[in-house]
Amino acid sequence: MKRIAIDMDQVMADLIAKFLTTFNAQYGTHYTKDDLRDKRLPELDAHAPEALARYYNDPTFFRDLPLFEGAMETIARLGEHYEIFIATAAMDVPSSFQAKFEWLQEHFPAIPKHHYVFCGDKSVVHADYLIDDTELQLTRFTGTGVMFAAPHNESSTFPLRLQNWAEVERYFMNELEKN
Ligand SMILES: [Mg+2]
Repeated sequence: MKRIAIDMDQVMADLIAKFLTTFNAQYGTHYTKDDLRDKRLPELDAHAPEALARYYNDPTFFRDLPLFEGAMETIARLGEHYEIFIATAAMDVPSSFQAKFEWLQEHFPAIPKHHYVFCGDKSVVHADYLIDDTELQLTRFTGTGVMFAAPHNESSTFPLRLQNWAEVERYFMNELEKN
């Protein structure tokens, strides 16, 4: 079986959605994902960096992130044909470790916990594919990178960029036929 490593934030879990809901409620703003086109979260607003730092220090912030539509079902189906690993750059937000672990256990109980890789630089991840929203991680990765569409990578020229989990499923089912 070929191995797929899957990023968590902005691939499985919609961190931006939670950030926007929380930020808008606290600051009385009305930002949407469109305002984040080609920007990372700290670039959204003058208050965004301090808000982000506060959210990232809250050990519960990552515990209830919404799932992307189809992520659960597609990952379950891909798991019949591929070995699934989770690769998250959790070292960027150390207070999120426990919440991320529990989130995976709740929503993806079929993925064994020894398939969780909490890391920094994903060039160490040995897999055939990596699904990620961060271009830097994808270019460092030595296998086939699959960019998952996000507002901040909208203008990316990365050769393989998929819009949603339905497209991810189609891509990997096609890959099976090639092998
Ligand atoms: Mg990510």
